[in-house]
Amino acid sequence: MALKLYNTLTRRKEVFRPLKKGEVLYYTCGPTVHDYAHIGNFRTFVVQDVLKRWLQSKGYRVRHVMNITDVDEKTLERAARKKIPLEELTSRYEKAFFEDLDCLNIKRADRYPRVSDNIPVIAGMVEGLLGRGHAFRDSDGSIYYDINTCPDYGKLSGNRPKRRIRAKMPREDYQRPKNFLLWKRCEGGGEMGCWDSRLGSGRPGWHIECAALANRYLGETIDIHSGGVDLIFPHHENEIAEAEGFSGKPFSRFWVHVEHLIVYGRKMSKSAGNFFTLRQIIRRGYDPRAMRLLYLKTHYRERLDFDFERLEEAGSEIGFLLELARRLEGIKGPAGSGLSEEIEAFKRDFTAAMDDDLHTDLAWKTYLALLHKADEAMESGGLSKEGAGRLRSAMEWVDSIFGLMGEC
Ligand SMILES: [Zn+2]
Repeated sequence: MALKLYNTLTRRKEVFRPLKKGEVLYYTCGPTVHDYAHIGNFRTFVVQDVLKRWLQSKGYRVRHVMNITDVDEKTLERAARKKIPLEELTSRYEKAFFEDLDCLNIKRADRYPRVSDNIPVIAGMVEGLLGRGHAFRDSDGSIYYDINTCPDYGKLSGNRPKRRIRAKMPREDYQRPKNFLLWKRCEGGGEMGCWDSRLGSGRPGWHIECAALANRYLGETIDIHSGGVDLIFPHHENEIAEAEGFSGKPFSRFWVHVEHLIVYGRKMSKSAGNFFTLRQIIRRGYDPRAMRLLYLKTHYRERLDFDFERLEEAGSEIGFLLELARRLEGIKGPAGSGLSEEIEAFKRDFTAAMDDDLHTDLAWKTYLALLHKADEAMESGGLSKEGAGRLRSAMEWVDSIFGLMGEC
């Protein structure tokens, strides 16, 4: 069966096939490393991990790149406030980010290019956009993208400019299409977060990082680009304008966006007291595997309403799964059920759910039903050694995709 994915660009489910046979070029927007990532960020990263694992299980080689944003205005502000060099701040949170990924059993990408290591590449793309007439230098010396030069601006988000965009717009108009920053001028001379380049002293804007890094490490046209729904506009819309303005080729063929995570029915915010980093959840004694399962129990295009009861329920399901795996080890005899038909039916249902736009929620349900059948068989007539072996290999297959059984 073929995998279908909902493509934000075309607003429908489409059969996914990579451009190059057997190989998927996969770009996912990475973290800004000025703080610990929160449980909403990790929802997106876990879904992206499962999509990658599912593609790999179908035999594709996935070339995965995720950027690390280690310079932006907020990051600079934090470093200045703490009176520490930028690198000291960002390396601390970058390390924490990788620890959190490991804790959630998220497979590493092939590359994690840092923005600070790629300034000449990013500046090169800005230079290219200036040369092709897509960008202009403003009176403050900074460089902006001129969206009037991009006739299909808005094709991803539907947020098309109604009239000609004359100038920069004030911050409160953030949701309206506007010319956006590519290169922010700075003073140079050792100023933090300021690089010399052929464009003069400056630092890149946010959107151009991803466009330039995807281009450098994966090429002009990639297969899948993914991020949270909050990135559709303006971030991804602007990435498209930049990448396509630069190369003249389509940027990403599929755009996969993960819905929001809310907490107790409300948007997560520090002031509302419902803001959690992954670390805070683990510190309260919860198993990160339960967190990973909780993410997968809701389809990625539905809003996930986090609460501790649901996390505990996921935790007890993880307990059941691990206990069953342990009990299977002890089965030696030839008598009892072989579960062969049940496992074949399960594999079909699991595959159908995953192929239908990555319905991990339904795939989990069908898996849990199989585990309950096995449990019942073990309680009543028993499970044969053959059946136990068959079930164990099915569980290993599921775990290569769901990644729920490894320890943190
Ligand atoms: Zn991005």
